[in-house]
Formats: sequence, C-alpha cells, structure tokens
Amino acid sequence: MSAQDFKTKHSLRRHHSECKQLQQQKIARLHGIEDTSKHYYNKHHALDCGNPQCPVCGNPRRTHKHTLTYQEQKFYQYVEDKDDNTPTSGNATDQP
Ligand SMILES: [Zn+2]
Repeated sequence: MSAQDFKTKHSLRRHHSECKQLQQQKIARLHGIEDTSKHYYNKHHALDCGNPQCPVCGNPRRTHKHTLTYQEQKFYQYVEDKDDNTPTSGNATDQP
C-alpha cells in the first residue's frame, strides 16, 4: 500500500467518525439533551445513560441473567419452526 492509500483511508476513517459524532449530536438535540461538543459523542451514544445496570440501555446478558437475547430468541424460534417441517421462508409471497 502506498502512502497515498494510507492517507485516503485515514481521511475516510476521520470523515466517518465525524459523521457519527454529528449524528449522535443531532439525536441529543432532538431529545433536549444539553448541547455538548461533538467530540463527546466519539465513543458515547447520545441516549446511553452510562449506567451499565440500566434495564433500558444495559447489556441484556448482564442485566437480565436468565433471559435470552433477541437474536437467540429468533434463532431458537427458527430452529423450532424448522423442526416442525413447516417451510417458512419469511417471504410475503408465501402467505395467502
Ligand atoms: Zn440507561
């Protein structure tokens, strides 16, 4: 990789992170959160309260110990449907 390629990748990476920061700043403004620098949202989502035990924005594996995540629920539902030998492709055209 040449030096120009590294510069292009670096500038693109900086551009994407700046876009994400502006997006989070816009979300914060829409929800009436006090205006802060866009750099505050570099690694912090606007609606994340920061409490790791929060039932809304915390990790469900840690906050609800014995419940499955949404992806696991979908997977087990898919496996159960597959075991019933009822083909479900998920397309709207299959339904009458
Ligand atoms: Zn929260």
